[in-house]
Amino acid sequence: MMKLLFILLLGVFTHGWCVDNGNPTETCQTTDNQGNQKDDSSRDPGDVKIYEHTLKNGLRIVVVPVESNGRIYFGVLYGVGSVDDPMGKVGLSHFLEHMMFKGTKSVSKDHLHYLLSKYCVSFGANTDCDYTLYHHIVRKEFLYLSLVIEADRMVNLRIDDTEFAIEKGVILEEAGLRNIDPTSRYLNDAGARMWYLYSQYAPPVIGTTYTIENISPKALRKHYKKYYVPNNATLIFVGNIQIEEVVPIAEKYFGRLKPSKELKRRVIPEPLNTGIRYFIEKSVPEIKTQTLQISYSFDKNIVVALKDMNIARFMTFMLFGPYGLTKVMKDEKNLICSARIDLGFNRGNKAFLYITLSLRDGVDRRVVEKECLEIVRNFKKFLTNDLLQKEKEKDSTGFKFMTDSPQELFGEMVGLMKGECSLDDANNRPKIIDDITLDDLINMAAKIFRDENMNHMVYSHPTTIRCFEY
Ligand SMILES: [Zn+2]
Repeated sequence: MMKLLFILLLGVFTHGWCVDNGNPTETCQTTDNQGNQKDDSSRDPGDVKIYEHTLKNGLRIVVVPVESNGRIYFGVLYGVGSVDDPMGKVGLSHFLEHMMFKGTKSVSKDHLHYLLSKYCVSFGANTDCDYTLYHHIVRKEFLYLSLVIEADRMVNLRIDDTEFAIEKGVILEEAGLRNIDPTSRYLNDAGARMWYLYSQYAPPVIGTTYTIENISPKALRKHYKKYYVPNNATLIFVGNIQIEEVVPIAEKYFGRLKPSKELKRRVIPEPLNTGIRYFIEKSVPEIKTQTLQISYSFDKNIVVALKDMNIARFMTFMLFGPYGLTKVMKDEKNLICSARIDLGFNRGNKAFLYITLSLRDGVDRRVVEKECLEIVRNFKKFLTNDLLQKEKEKDSTGFKFMTDSPQELFGEMVGLMKGECSLDDANNRPKIIDDITLDDLINMAAKIFRDENMNHMVYSHPTTIRCFEY
């Protein structure tokens, strides 16, 4: 479900507490029978509060009580993803997500599917670099059943050799289909290799044919035992429910599960850039567009607090949006067909800002590069108080829309749980946004746009060049 990726595109606002983007990330939707419905009630976004409780076994619970027409948006988020996959076995976490639908020691695969299909409005799962999510939309009267299912498969999963062999075929096929657009595939894969030298953020979440073939039922069982434990999971509830109602039922079904004493996630820190990295200039026959990507990779600590994330977001929109780079390079100088700007905050110890430009036919990429860097280096010219006020107003409208929709709110909660910003900050979001000043934006730009943080990457087609609209 792409919404859970929180893609931050120019012109497509992602409002919320934490914004995360996963350029080198792939999600896998196992099942999703969409049936969400927008709540038509109206409320002050400031009324929406997040409540938290942790059970004795370490299981974290977060609840956002909002009107939801009797539907509860429920999810279990595990702190495990492809970055935790053993070397040579990338794709293991994603494979395990598939196996979670194959039945347990107490419930057969068919019965599990019967229960999920009959009692849930929708259900599904996805895996990314750092997390695996199982999500349900369920009517409140059947919520207990969703909890029973998730508590059971947290500890009782059955990994059957025959089912394993069948699923391997499904996953190999899925891996072959990923990222059909070659421009995105080349940029993602090359970008990830450039940014991540040691940790497993570089390979695709789903793995490659080689690494998927390397996965065995034994490896899956070991991974499951290590990471599917209550002290590595968060239950998320959004809808007509209060934390006082949730805690007793969560305690009833999950309270008896034993925490793991050995749980330790180990993510290898990546070295920060120490100078401009100029990547490849390469002709790739499949690529139809001349593409230039300039990215900045920097210490993630700059954007951990909710305020800093939103400062970076505002600054990015103002500098590259319809009043900044897009206006100059697309509308005025006709150098590019489109610009795509992404921010990535939660990938190991690094964060990213990348600018992907699709060049017009016959335009020299060196001219585009020079122009782009000129804009970046003169960022102060594009950051004004008027624009900041406009961005704040847009943000407030978007935030209101998001808090009116339990589905959107659930997506934002997942993003929030994946990040590291505090729930206190999230509960004070309107004030935090209001306090952002122009100086904050200028200081943020100065921290990010340093030459030593810069990476360049260029791709072009050897003969034909066609404009590509992002
Ligand atoms: Zn999958």
